Amino acid sequence: METSAVRTGDTWTINGEKSWNTGIHRASHILVIARTSGKAGDASGLTAFLVPTDTAGFKLEEMLWTFNMPTDHGRVSFTDLQVPHSSIFGGEGKALQVVQHFFNENRIRQAASSLGAAQYCINESVKYALKRAPFGKPLSSNQGIQFPLVELQTQAEMLRALIHKTAWQMDTYGAFSVSDKISMCNFVANRLCCDASDQAMQVHGGLGYSRHKPFEHIYRHHRRYRITEGTEEIQKRRVAGYMFGFMDRKAPKGVST
Ligand SMILES: Cc1cc2nc3c(=O)[nH]c(=O)nc-3n(C[C@H](O)[C@H](O)[C@H](O)COP(=O)(O)OP(=O)(O)OC[C@H]3O[C@@H](n4cnc5c(N)ncnc54)[C@H](O)[C@@H]3O)c2cc1C
Repeated sequence: METSAVRTGDTWTINGEKSWNTGIHRASHILVIARTSGKAGDASGLTAFLVPTDTAGFKLEEMLWTFNMPTDHGRVSFTDLQVPHSSIFGGEGKALQVVQHFFNENRIRQAASSLGAAQYCINESVKYALKRAPFGKPLSSNQGIQFPLVELQTQAEMLRALIHKTAWQMDTYGAFSVSDKISMCNFVANRLCCDASDQAMQVHGGLGYSRHKPFEHIYRHHRRYRITEGTEEIQKRRVAGYMFGFMDRKAPKGVST
């Protein structure tokens, strides 16, 4: 965390930069997390500020080129940017708790979205395989076409059951009690969607690889999810944390479940 903020009276001065700000080209505000006390790596001492993007000292440096063009992810900088004390969101030094309020919900939302897109790819592949008949024989009559789709459909069914159960447990017992299950849903769903869109491209042949079908776009979009809402490795770290007892199932102090 290289971005820092220093207080003088009622004003905070922020200096630093942040890569990967999705939607920043349209945003009226940005939630800036800066170090206000402690040392690098400390969990406390980070503060969240709600900053209007038209504040002097804020600059959109560049939009970052990605696998999924056109991009909507920017890198921004803060140079002697001044905000009042009242722009602190969630309490001084408590930015980690702010983030912990929404990451579980985001992760399961993303899992459900990837599952839906995966199911779409499977359904479209089945429909196409029934219709397309190279040399007069429907693609669907080949086990080489059927079996990979059967594997994907089986994984989709199992994942759907886990997502439903986990969402119910989040509502009933609180998200932190099943944070590991949320992470399982997340990394399995994002991977499943990449596998299903890849298979859909294969079943649709050249057409599948083209932009006349949505599969290559689904692949590019959901490939990102294996990195952004906590990488696959970070999801596994959480599962391992609960499995081996390094992490607590209780919500951290100050975070509602
Ligand atoms: C398209 C896109 C949009 C984004 N939008 C936003 C946004 O709107 N807001 C925002 O705040 N961020 C956003 N991000 C940033 C995103 O959250 C980070 O890229 C992500 O959390 C990974 O951090 P990193 O890139 O610094 O990777 P690093 O932390 O440098 O990790 C690099 C690799 O090492 C692995 N790794 C790290 N530690 C370990 C470990 N202990 N054991 C094993 N492997 C490990 C990681 O899993 C990863 O694969 C976005 C990123 C992208 C690509």
